Amino acid sequence: MNPWLETLQKKNTQLRNDGLIRRLQMRESPNAPEVQLEGKKLLSFCSNDYLGLSNHPSLAEALAAGAVQFGVGSGASPLISGHTNAHAKLEQALAQTQNLHIPNVSSCLMSTGFMANVGALTALASLGQISFFSDSLNHASIIDGIRFAKTCHQATVSIFQHSDYDHLKSLLELDQNTLKCIVTDGVFSMDGDIANLPKLLSLAEQYSALLYVDDAHGFGVLGENGHGSLEYFGLNSSQLIYMGTLGKAAGISGAFLASGNLWIDWFTQASRPLIYSTNTSPALSHALMNSLELMHSSDGATRREKLFNNIHLWHKNAVFKRWHCLQSATPIQPLIIGDNKETLFVSGRLKEKGIWVPAIRPPTVPINSARLRITLNADHTPEMVYQLLHTLKEIEAEIDE
Ligand SMILES: *Cc1c(COP(=O)(O)O)cnc(C)c1O
Repeated sequence: MNPWLETLQKKNTQLRNDGLIRRLQMRESPNAPEVQLEGKKLLSFCSNDYLGLSNHPSLAEALAAGAVQFGVGSGASPLISGHTNAHAKLEQALAQTQNLHIPNVSSCLMSTGFMANVGALTALASLGQISFFSDSLNHASIIDGIRFAKTCHQATVSIFQHSDYDHLKSLLELDQNTLKCIVTDGVFSMDGDIANLPKLLSLAEQYSALLYVDDAHGFGVLGENGHGSLEYFGLNSSQLIYMGTLGKAAGISGAFLASGNLWIDWFTQASRPLIYSTNTSPALSHALMNSLELMHSSDGATRREKLFNNIHLWHKNAVFKRWHCLQSATPIQPLIIGDNKETLFVSGRLKEKGIWVPAIRPPTVPINSARLRITLNADHTPEMVYQLLHTLKEIEAEIDE
């Protein structure tokens, strides 16, 4: 047999045996609490669209208007000719969201959060011999950004146990490099817990380190105005680099880096995904302005209030015998099942009963901590949350029989 085919088939068999095969599922409706999946109507608890903006009519209108006014494509990478007034206006508005938290704040747009992390972390490492200190549960895109930085610029990396800041302190203490950067998710994407940023910032200040916060799940959700985890904790420091994404609560796609203008200028010099990739559509920037306006309006505040009511309702009632919920004050509410196959089974049974929650398995989460990653949003009604609770309890009883 062809050696490639043989290798591939062996790998696939192994994944199947371990219950780790991944499959795309095709949604046939816009993203919303009720969706159509492969011909079937389902209640969805799996999007990161926390404010319910991804299918908002005024954003759809803004996108269409933006396409007419600015064109559909940007035509080139930002430094060649793809940067437009639509992008610049959005960058200013995004920087404004962090202006109470970062002195001389400026921002640059990136195509995705993944690219923002890869671009920024590598650009930092290109400045010299640097050490990263990374939380063990940081997102895959941070891990890959640091891998690039290691490979291309000989950066060193120390992983600290999740939210174990004594461990972090001991690693900082031992490290010889003068350029240090602590990297953390603001809200951890698979556990839903919020990093203790005040503590991290005080360590950063003590060791003259940068604190890089990936706030993919905090931006739009946390803080009185939805400005994210820096607002939530009321921080202010010139040692902060903030990364927010625009495909989750902001409802569209893209990401931004916000930091002091010197840093943003450096990213423009050295972030390769920014320099060598076609800029995002200006129509998207135009629509994202609308999304920011919504986030800041009283409608946005009401959406956050509904979201947090749902989180509260889930917490009060999510008590199971076989499984346990992680403590999380954010829309990400993991239900830990442990075993990969049982997790798949529960996810499959939920679907048969009309509810869509994906099974998250290793390597996305640590071994023996397979889970249902339940995400709540502002458009879920309390009845929908009760239906999820009730159905899960039915399935649990079935398994225990
Ligand atoms: C989703 C996510 C990203 C990637 O953002 P995209 O814009 O979807 O590429 C980065 N970091 C964290 C913590 C995330 O959850």
